Amino acid sequence: MKQKIYNLLVVLVFTSSGLLAQKAKQGHVNINKFRQLKQELPTPNSQRTASGKPGKDYTQQKVDYKMNIVLDDDNRRISGSETISYHNNSSDALEYLWVQLDQNMRAKDSKTPDIQPNRIPKRLNKRRYDRSFPEEEFDGGFKIMSVTNTDGSALSHTINQTMMRINLTEPLASGDRFAFNISWWYNINNHRTQGGRSGYEHFPKDGNNNYVIAQFYPRMCVYDNVEGWQNDQFWGRSEFALEFGDFTVNITVPEDHMLGATGKLLNETEVLSKKELKRWKQAQTTFDNPVIIRTQNEAEKIEKSRAKGKKTWKFYAENVRDYAFATSRKFIWDAMAVDINGKTVMAHSLYSKEANPLYGDHSTRATAQTLKTYSRYTFDYPYHKAISVDGQMGMEYPQICFNPGRPDLPDGGYSDRMKYRMVKVTVHEVGHNFFPMIVNSDERQWTWMDEGLNSFVEMLAELDYDPNFPITRGLPKNIVRYMGGDQSKIAPIMSKGDNVYSFGNNAYGKPATALYILRNTIMGKELFDHAFQTYSKRWKFKHPTPADFFRTMEDASAMDLDWFWRGWFYTTDVTDIGIKGVKKFSTKKSANNVDFVEDTSKGLGFEENKDNYLYEITYNKPGGLVMPIIVEFTYKDGTKERKKYPAQIWRYNDNEVTKVFRSTKQIKSIQIDPDLETADVDTSNNSWPPKNQDRFSKFKKQIKG
Ligand SMILES: [Zn+2]
Repeated sequence: MKQKIYNLLVVLVFTSSGLLAQKAKQGHVNINKFRQLKQELPTPNSQRTASGKPGKDYTQQKVDYKMNIVLDDDNRRISGSETISYHNNSSDALEYLWVQLDQNMRAKDSKTPDIQPNRIPKRLNKRRYDRSFPEEEFDGGFKIMSVTNTDGSALSHTINQTMMRINLTEPLASGDRFAFNISWWYNINNHRTQGGRSGYEHFPKDGNNNYVIAQFYPRMCVYDNVEGWQNDQFWGRSEFALEFGDFTVNITVPEDHMLGATGKLLNETEVLSKKELKRWKQAQTTFDNPVIIRTQNEAEKIEKSRAKGKKTWKFYAENVRDYAFATSRKFIWDAMAVDINGKTVMAHSLYSKEANPLYGDHSTRATAQTLKTYSRYTFDYPYHKAISVDGQMGMEYPQICFNPGRPDLPDGGYSDRMKYRMVKVTVHEVGHNFFPMIVNSDERQWTWMDEGLNSFVEMLAELDYDPNFPITRGLPKNIVRYMGGDQSKIAPIMSKGDNVYSFGNNAYGKPATALYILRNTIMGKELFDHAFQTYSKRWKFKHPTPADFFRTMEDASAMDLDWFWRGWFYTTDVTDIGIKGVKKFSTKKSANNVDFVEDTSKGLGFEENKDNYLYEITYNKPGGLVMPIIVEFTYKDGTKERKKYPAQIWRYNDNEVTKVFRSTKQIKSIQIDPDLETADVDTSNNSWPPKNQDRFSKFKKQIKG
């Protein structure tokens, strides 16, 4: 047994001297956690300033689309033709243009399945088996029929997986516009059996399909002075980077379908019945409850028959970065008016009877609340509507999103669990209208910039919808398991979404928690809200980068947060702060001096020294993150007092810091982070006197063998 202790000591001495040698070798390398983020951030320029604001030379490209889309319901196929007008607002001449062909992720030659390691599992349920090992290979992907100039002549192009290069005969000069045509078709995937961010859901009972259609047209890549062409392949996870533009879209579907889409409906008298038009008018002035425009009874009647004819729905959408639509003969439709600072915005829902009464009760109301809450924390919602569609997935597009949730109780009702899940996803996806549909970050590169920011505001909207809403993601205590887990499976937030394990925690949970902590623990609500709103307003209808966010948050608050960004966004360090020891002192006063005398008596001491208690407390920090030390002192008389030392208290010593606390009452106990607001991964060292001896006794057991 002694031998073992000796070995342990040798190991300790050896490693610490090794560490010292290593540190000595590092010499002048500055590893102080409060050093500024200089190398990590791009140099400011006249497009993106040091304040985090767009500069005087900021430009972005504009892309306008004119599209005719036809849905073939019998064959579950989409065909389309489009004219893309590309405005080169950059100062660069472009030799070629890049177009995104997202559907090719489902093409037979797609590499997406090949980069996904897999194993033979013990068991799979039938649905997952069919999805993992389909009997027939799905013939997905865009079938590009033609790429032509506006005069109809063929336009040279090269397809590389999900990207298509348009080869220009001469460079497109700065300030010039280039228009060209593409026509295509593709087989729509069943998103319930094959997965995907869009597709159809089949209802075997009535033979109908609900279509939620997105990434359905060839779309321009972003070109800017940050990435050049953002033409990273679409592997299926890291989402999209898109330019703003105006869309003129005609969508032809079976005549008995109900359809919702991005943009203003231009021909409502042609596609809606007189009854529906009347109710639709009524909805536009009804602010308290949704008005049902196509009822469940009407929808049930329609879904039983099949109309022979077709109908074309015509839309115009201004200044949107993308386009999506949903269509089915099963859809019930309700809508209500939402007052956004004096402007009326419409909240809509489209859902099949299978989603009722859940959708009828909550979908439109949750959508309306989301628009209100997000407008309060960012800017007034600038579009005229937001639609929530019963799409049995969670996916977002401008003015329209697809959400999950169906009644789950035997009597056709729904549990609280299902209700909260459905409302949560609805708030989240409607919230994406703000991030990234309007504050248009590059999702392909930085998932956290839309998912993290959105998951953070989502919490605020959920609590506005229901003060008892069970918040899960975004609270500090809920990220502890992930952050304190196996470090080999954790990547910094500043990683590309395609490349990280535990995508949800990395890109949603951790950044949302980081913002929650910034707001509640580091900056305070007032400073945070102003800075966050400043960022949102500066970058609405523009393309922000991480540096623009980091810089704006500091610029608008007078807080140097580089240490926070560095720790939380660039490393996988954890919070773990503990109390190492407490010394009690009393004073002896003479004519010229005051002597401090340590009180080593057990128990409370100082009975005679009524109004001057001095404690020297040593805090240690096993965790790599620097964070404020939040201390709660409980006095002998039962009262409590709190003290928060800013994170900068760690700037001279990253491992340990000693701080004197003077009080007029005797301290009975001390607790660090009493409200669990710092995501401390090990709270067993957070109290004095130590409450939990577990770690220590474990250690003792270890060395005893
Ligand atoms: Zn999301």
